[in-house]
Amino acid sequence: MSEITYKRDTGQPLSLSERMALKRETRIKTAPKLFKSLLERALTGKCSPRMAIKAQCLECVGFDRAAITDCTAYACPLWHYRPYQTKDSVKESDNET
Ligand code: SF4
Repeated sequence: MSEITYKRDTGQPLSLSERMALKRETRIKTAPKLFKSLLERALTGKCSPRMAIKAQCLECVGFDRAAITDCTAYACPLWHYRPYQTKDSVKESDNET
């Protein structure tokens, strides 16, 4: 993966909003096609908090839905709110504590 450059050709640093836009663009570009729209909406504040959590979890585990179901990062603030939970995944986590 190429490194993001935060400077103009002239050597002048980009503004905060330009850096944010560049980071957003890079993250969306590297997301699987299926999740690009969701990620774009989450990164631009154009979706519900629930969808933003979904986008965060998907990005966290490399866009693998099953990995979210099986997530064992119980200390993560999003763990109780993560998508793709099943009754079994919650029961199993109760046994692991
Ligand atoms: S709940 Fe799991 S998948 Fe979601 S952000 Fe936290 S660690 Fe990542």
